[in-house]
Amino acid sequence: MLQLSDRLGPARGTRAINHKHVLISIMIKGDTQANLARRTGLAQSTVSNIVGELQTAGVLPNDKAEQARAVRRGTVRLPPTRNVAVGVHLGFVRATVVARRVDRPISETHSEHVASGANRGMSEVIPVLKQAIREAVGRTSLGLEDVVSLGVAVPRMVDPRTGRFASPILPPWSEGDDPSRDLGAWLGVPGALDNDANLGALAEQTYATDGHAEIVVYIKGSTGIGAGLVISNTPIRGRGMAGEIGHLVFDPNGAVCRCGGRGCLETVIGANALVRQARDALSGSAVDVPHSLASLIEKAQAGDVVCERIMRDAGRVLGQALAQLCNLLNPDLIVVGGTLGAAQGMVLDPCQESLERFALRGAVGPHSGFTLKSSSMNQLSEAQGALLLGLTSLRRSDDTQEQGRD
Ligand SMILES: [Zn+2]
Repeated sequence: MLQLSDRLGPARGTRAINHKHVLISIMIKGDTQANLARRTGLAQSTVSNIVGELQTAGVLPNDKAEQARAVRRGTVRLPPTRNVAVGVHLGFVRATVVARRVDRPISETHSEHVASGANRGMSEVIPVLKQAIREAVGRTSLGLEDVVSLGVAVPRMVDPRTGRFASPILPPWSEGDDPSRDLGAWLGVPGALDNDANLGALAEQTYATDGHAEIVVYIKGSTGIGAGLVISNTPIRGRGMAGEIGHLVFDPNGAVCRCGGRGCLETVIGANALVRQARDALSGSAVDVPHSLASLIEKAQAGDVVCERIMRDAGRVLGQALAQLCNLLNPDLIVVGGTLGAAQGMVLDPCQESLERFALRGAVGPHSGFTLKSSSMNQLSEAQGALLLGLTSLRRSDDTQEQGRD
């Protein structure tokens, strides 16, 4: 089997850097040459030359039968390869690990869920994550020594200039915590860290659309509410705080938020706020009170009128907030993910109604080209985005050397 580790180290010179860029893009997703050109930003003729050279070098299938099959499929794919990419989504109370052989499509990703999150503290959660990575990688039939990249998604702001948490660092994280550094050192690969909503947006844009959506917004609705923005294949991070839609002020006289603001969207439709509403309405009744957003959604879907009302109103409020975003950015696609996405039409239908009521008709109306949908990635968007980030960040060492030569 092919082994790519030697080709993934720091590249010198434009030609080597472009070769590695195309190779990593194929590891992220086997694709047509036209799409590879669009995703890498390279000219189609450059991609075509590189694909030819990679075939000659045996990195891409070079036997005639396999090439003919690839031409018929219209896609460039790796032959059987002995390398695995890993992504970790580390939430407050749970975590998900995904592992995928880089020659396999996203449908052949192996995932592992653990009921431990960052609120246990780093020293307790890191060993749990190591075990989950071992199991997920094991199911690819390869070993930890075959892992080439690692990305970690966290529900926190990450400064893209440093790759570390942006200040202020709110609990349960503290100064110096970096799960991507600790797990990367254990695996012997460079680790990369980013905000989970950013990575959800990146995964949805890469895997769940045909790649032609110019502006994609991913809403991660769980304990917090975050938005990831991808414009022309580029995540918009600002200095770490882009897309913090959960802290847009929705009710200036509302409850104080954990960010220090008052009446943020998160204090209205964050998981804690929604569960609190159910608890207040149902306490003292014979009905079991939902203890989490997931159980609130389950009860709503089972027909509980109180829980259903709470979820539908949350969809309405989300739509009001997204209407502002639609007028500002005019996205092609908004994907609602996180636990909130599991509510599907119960949240999306009232959300769409609010959008049509509060946003410009040309931005969200029937003939606007706009789509609102729930994630189709089975709550793995953030972890898949983390895997993608790990692969992409293998190019960081190249860019440094390019800049160093200027
Ligand atoms: Zn806030």
